Amino acid sequence: MRRQRIAIDMDDVMAITSEKFLKNINRLFDKNLSEKDFKGKYWLDIITIDQYKACIELVHEEGYFLDFPIMPDAVEVIKALNEKYDVFIVSAATEFPNSLKEKMIWLAEHFPFINWKNIVLCGDKSIISADYLIDDHPKNLKTFLGKSLMFDAIHNQTVTDYQRVMSWKEIATILL
Ligand SMILES: [Mg+2]
Repeated sequence: MRRQRIAIDMDDVMAITSEKFLKNINRLFDKNLSEKDFKGKYWLDIITIDQYKACIELVHEEGYFLDFPIMPDAVEVIKALNEKYDVFIVSAATEFPNSLKEKMIWLAEHFPFINWKNIVLCGDKSIISADYLIDDHPKNLKTFLGKSLMFDAIHNQTVTDYQRVMSWKEIATILL
């Protein structure tokens, strides 16, 4: 019998990424916004399109994806999941060409037990087929045909369509 497949998102699921974007907003536009200002909102609900574009330019810069902190307990839990399931890291990365190489470097550094064959850097995640998808973005979970687990994030606070998971420890209790 084949092992069940788990597809795992990177940004704000394995890596803490929004913090850096928020810091750049505050630095560039002399604001003092905190995560709670974004509760249930996306960036464009609270900053202008031009401000957003200026922050996105920084995302294109070399090195942007290299130094994200790891989500608490992600290494230990994903390592254990990898023993029991076929784990695939699935990241919508092609919008930022630098991120392709940098995400590979970040994964090799922090998750060396993930084989390169199990890393799927893509554009639109609706192409993904697996038994589970762990992702923070409803737009990715919406098209997924397996079981969705929505990783808790500041922007998805009002979304109730998917099973919310608060932490990697909680994922461990569900899947291990
Ligand atoms: Mg994400």
